[in-house]
Amino acid sequence: MCGIVGITGNADVSFSLYYALYALQHRGQESAGIATFDETGFCKHKGQGLVSEVFNGNKLANLKGKVGIGHVRYPTTGENRPENIQPFLFQFQNHTIAIAHNGNLVNYQEIRTNFEEKGQIFWSTSDTEIISKVITEEIRCGGTIDDAVRRCMQLLRGSYSVVMLIDGDLYAFRDPYGIRPLCFGYTTDGVVIASESVAIDALGGTCKRDVFPGEMIGITADGFRSRRFTVADHKAHCIFEYIYFARADSYIDGVLVYDVRRRIGGLISEEAPVKADAVCTVPDSGTAYAVGYSEKSGIPFVECLIKNRYMGRTFIMPTQELREMAVRIKLNPIADHLRGKSIVLVDDSIVRGTTSRRIIEIMRQAGAKEIHMRIGSPMITAPCYLGVDMPTRNELIGSRCNAKEVKDRITATTLHYISLDALVESIGKPISDLCTGCLTGRYPIEIGNEICEERSVDFIESDFQTPLFSEQT
Ligand code: AMP
Repeated sequence: MCGIVGITGNADVSFSLYYALYALQHRGQESAGIATFDETGFCKHKGQGLVSEVFNGNKLANLKGKVGIGHVRYPTTGENRPENIQPFLFQFQNHTIAIAHNGNLVNYQEIRTNFEEKGQIFWSTSDTEIISKVITEEIRCGGTIDDAVRRCMQLLRGSYSVVMLIDGDLYAFRDPYGIRPLCFGYTTDGVVIASESVAIDALGGTCKRDVFPGEMIGITADGFRSRRFTVADHKAHCIFEYIYFARADSYIDGVLVYDVRRRIGGLISEEAPVKADAVCTVPDSGTAYAVGYSEKSGIPFVECLIKNRYMGRTFIMPTQELREMAVRIKLNPIADHLRGKSIVLVDDSIVRGTTSRRIIEIMRQAGAKEIHMRIGSPMITAPCYLGVDMPTRNELIGSRCNAKEVKDRITATTLHYISLDALVESIGKPISDLCTGCLTGRYPIEIGNEICEERSVDFIESDFQTPLFSEQT
């Protein structure tokens, strides 16, 4: 879970990078960094925390250059350590290189071991460093940048959307399945490449298109160029980007994420109609779904939970107890909208089940009579190995319980998860072009036993306490 951006312009680009990263903050809140390039070389600033905490006016003013890249990080590989903060910068032969990556390499360890056996050293535990090593190795052997990117596509297994600066030339490339998003567009004075189109919007630019799977684009002194190194027989766009991860106002492959979620909401109301007084969202992730459910069912959309905008994601809290407490501070119920009412409560997904159970508890305490939970994704039953921060298999409530058991555990009156078919229909792409690993346990690429085991660590029983309310009506 990371956000990346690369920008060229006619003037210093650091403030533009800052705004773009701000627009991508939802993709990672642990650290942020910017690297720019001018005639004298690289300028960089990186730090732990939110974009607004890491940068200020002075720091941005010191980042000189008309081209630069930026990164926001939520780690999926590599610990939370300063040396893992991106962009990574290094010197090689006569080149200066900066690189930022969104994704997860599943053959990271294998490639690293190969390099180490040849005497190479590593300064971080991040898989992104592997990409830099593959690139420099190719250049060392006399290859061009194109050769180096082609080599990445041959060697790397996993998901990677990458932006890279080499001596002031900006490059971007995306893995052959296009697992993580990457798009580009134009502003009045340059090019913006970003994880999501909202970053281009933030700069007043126009999104041109997604970078194709297996494509590299380059913006150099010779202008814009594109090369497609591999064309896989299908794509594997991450389905969870549509469900939860991407911002609702982003376009992925020309499709507005908000509209996908709204269509899903409509289809859930057809799959699981119910008599109720109001449709309520779990803000903000459930809102587009709830709007769709309300439109299709004719049940009014009423906000019953108000979100404290100054709180981060509850998932970030390290312990179960803190996560549960955080929900109460994050979401406050409007008792007058809930008292004595039957509510359809719509959210995008249930992962651990913790938040959902707590929200239902809060709503009942505020007087709700019935809570019919409707979920915009099928059950999440398997971990993600390809770049979304998901708990281990055993922490996923959907991998241990069937839908009826989940309903009981979260204490909903009724519970319905959208079917996979309806979800895919809402996205409007063939299922063969989507990665549904977290829903089906089937991944577009071979994952490898070592990594699977890592994500299957022992389950902590206290994560599922006895339901706080006994069986409902
Ligand atoms: P829970 O009931 O504890 O499974 O929490 C479900 C909530 O977590 C939903 O509202 C989702 O929007 C949100 N969510 C889903 N996936 C993630 C994720 N990978 N990181 C943070 N929050 C998530």
